Amino acid sequence: MTTPPRTSTRPQRGQGQWALGYREPLNPNERFKKDSDGLDVRQRILDIYAHTGFDGIDPTDLRGRMRWMGLYTQRRQGIPGGKTAVLEPDELEDPYFMLRVRIDGGQLSSEQLRVIGGISTEFGRDVADITDRQNVQLHWIRIEDVPEIWTRLEAVGLGTTEACGDTPRVMLGCPLAGILEDEVIDASGVLDETVAKYVGSREFSNLPRKWKTSMSGCVDHCTGHEINDVSFVGVVNEDGEAGYDLWVGGGLSTNPKLAQRIGVFVRPDQVTDVWAAVTGIFRDYGYRRQRNHARMKFLMADWGPEKFRQVLQDEYLKTALPDGPAPAAPRNDQRDHVGVLRQKDGANALGFALRTGRISGSMLTRVAELAEQRGQGRIRTTAQQKLVILDVADADVEPLVAELAALDLQVRPSAFRRGTMACTGLEFCKLAIVETKQHAQDLYAELEKRLPEFDTPISINVNGCPNACARFQTADIGFKGSMVRDDAGEMVEGFQVHLGGHLGVDAAFGRKFRGHKVTKVETADYCERVLRGYLERREGGESFAA
Ligand code: SF4
Repeated sequence: MTTPPRTSTRPQRGQGQWALGYREPLNPNERFKKDSDGLDVRQRILDIYAHTGFDGIDPTDLRGRMRWMGLYTQRRQGIPGGKTAVLEPDELEDPYFMLRVRIDGGQLSSEQLRVIGGISTEFGRDVADITDRQNVQLHWIRIEDVPEIWTRLEAVGLGTTEACGDTPRVMLGCPLAGILEDEVIDASGVLDETVAKYVGSREFSNLPRKWKTSMSGCVDHCTGHEINDVSFVGVVNEDGEAGYDLWVGGGLSTNPKLAQRIGVFVRPDQVTDVWAAVTGIFRDYGYRRQRNHARMKFLMADWGPEKFRQVLQDEYLKTALPDGPAPAAPRNDQRDHVGVLRQKDGANALGFALRTGRISGSMLTRVAELAEQRGQGRIRTTAQQKLVILDVADADVEPLVAELAALDLQVRPSAFRRGTMACTGLEFCKLAIVETKQHAQDLYAELEKRLPEFDTPISINVNGCPNACARFQTADIGFKGSMVRDDAGEMVEGFQVHLGGHLGVDAAFGRKFRGHKVTKVETADYCERVLRGYLERREGGESFAA
């Protein structure tokens, strides 16, 4: 006789789901969101804080609601990583902000890029980062300057609303949507429609946690639908109709999960409504008790795709969606659109690598000029910290390659430079344990010297802490910042290594091997050992992940 499984007699504790009647805030974040919507902070910035300065900002606005307007306080300069956990918030921050400008779909005009570059130069000490969510992040921003910055951004159709916070953040789209011949579908229209209708709307300005969207018909799957909260992935159904496959519940951070297919076919004219319905499920059924258990991935792990589909159709859409096909495998392991790519109109798109996303405002202004001189003023950001200039005639390709190279912007970078990403890290991020941007630049430069013959796409993602903003779990070699013990027994900056992560067919997170911790100074030696071992053992065209 088999023993029946033991069932707990303890009543299950609610997770703070609004739909189940839990409306009383269960943690400080839920409390401040209930007391005053995050979007309310905009008016207080304009009316009060821009005049009082940093010291006059209400602490809950400062470290909470400011995010709804794309503002994060910046890490105090000179505080080492090991100190993060033991300092009070005001000991850890400088009186400056990081400001995230949302670039939905990565689409920019030269006029817009010129404005961003000018703001960086004038108000942000000429520093800018292209993030791996297609945003531009500025640093050293004073609260007194924010109204003028918004005026300039809004004059060219840009903004910072809901660039951070428990909101629908920037929506990823293929930077070459509508440009390449071989895309499954151009998703830029449905993306623009969804942004216009719902970003800044009070309907979704109080979600349980951050909400990451991608909408793309890219054959390279460049927006990484597997690791977004909600994704619409281009497919063609059995009738030859192009539409979208819906994926829900992906996310990285400290408890990574791959998104799951819901199995429905979404027509282009349904995308905005289906997005709103999925977002509504997250708002209403998402877990609000514990912040570290509040992302959609936890609800999906409990419900599974069948129950999710049933709730989506029965409670939210009030109609059934047809079954649909899964997306084709990505054509390419490299999703960054770097290089010279032929557009369907016969012109060329030139994608290029910065220095792990780092650039200056003056260089952004120069890129805007080049896009006007050699193209038609269209620029794109990618989800791999790269930029693309569109509409370059054949005769202008090599001159533009050379002009970009003169700025150290590489259309034909080494495999290491191309494949290395880094998060903000200790330089500006209050959560960081380890400096990342400069370290990653030094690392790829060192590997270029040591392994000049290396000829295979490789991803090396350098992160300053376990939050995985630069996606260490999906890289061939993923570095997660932590304090590690060196040979002398001292605790120093270093990394936990994760190996063999990848998206696409048989997507899997990198494995953490016992003992694979390296100090910062050991990372180049470590990478060289691993990569030489790969070169010696690979068979045929076997990729690193294989
Ligand atoms: Fe900051 Fe950590 Fe994110 Fe890096 S991974 S930007 S250190 S929170």
